Amino acid sequence: MSLTRIVESEGPLLSPFELLPECRPSHISENLSWLAPRFYDLQAQLLVVAIQSFLVHAGGKTILVDACSGDHKERRRPFFHQREWGWLEKLAAAGVRPTDVDIVMCSHLHVDHVGWNTRLENGTWVPTFPNARYLISKREWEYWCSQAGITSLQRTGDFISDSVVPIMASGQADLIDDRYGFSECIGIEPAHGHTPGQFVVRISAGGKEAILSADLLHTPLQLRYPHWSTNFCVDPELARRTREDFLNRHCNGPLVFPAHFPGPCGGRIIRDGGHYSFEYADLR
Ligand SMILES: [Zn+2]
Repeated sequence: MSLTRIVESEGPLLSPFELLPECRPSHISENLSWLAPRFYDLQAQLLVVAIQSFLVHAGGKTILVDACSGDHKERRRPFFHQREWGWLEKLAAAGVRPTDVDIVMCSHLHVDHVGWNTRLENGTWVPTFPNARYLISKREWEYWCSQAGITSLQRTGDFISDSVVPIMASGQADLIDDRYGFSECIGIEPAHGHTPGQFVVRISAGGKEAILSADLLHTPLQLRYPHWSTNFCVDPELARRTREDFLNRHCNGPLVFPAHFPGPCGGRIIRDGGHYSFEYADLR
């Protein structure tokens, strides 16, 4: 079993006030001593955000959890628009060619998690990983087919058409239920709210456990203020309940890897009075 981050980008990206509707300047100044510089760039006044995939070798399978934002995509946010990230080269540096990937797990269908599902070939979007099964929550897929899902694509650009539909068309998608396991050492659990079908991935080996917690948390400010959901949450109230329940169940527990936390990304949730803090693990 091994777990490797394949980082597409990491740096100042989002204003805390764009991300978190309840955040005020005083919240930043009160927490600056631990926020900056790792989680908050003081000069840019932006949260430091990683866009990354997790490469898991488990049970003889090569598994990719999430697929960043991708190359050449037509997007509203300039940061994601028509980029060329060199991400496949980073995957190659980790010893993995696209043909090697057996399973792609889509924690949820958001623009910064599905990009490398596909790549551009002669003007057509084709699956990046020709031999992979792509695991997508059935509940999630149904939302993005609904009017509410289609309407919300106006904010980002239509990533469903370029990064998910080609996977459906190639017959490589497996629409999965809220609980699903395909090996003894890896499984999913529902984490609904941020999106309707979001799941977290639990991996275990040798009595140790880690959870790839997707977008249950975007910034460690949400450990200090666990009731804060984001402006990108489809159902902020359900996202809050899911987050508070997760933090309560996993504090002082397994290693947790929130999708957007900067390197080394993984750590433990520590109960800290009436709230929580995040203690980075000493990872290679
Ligand atoms: Zn995300």
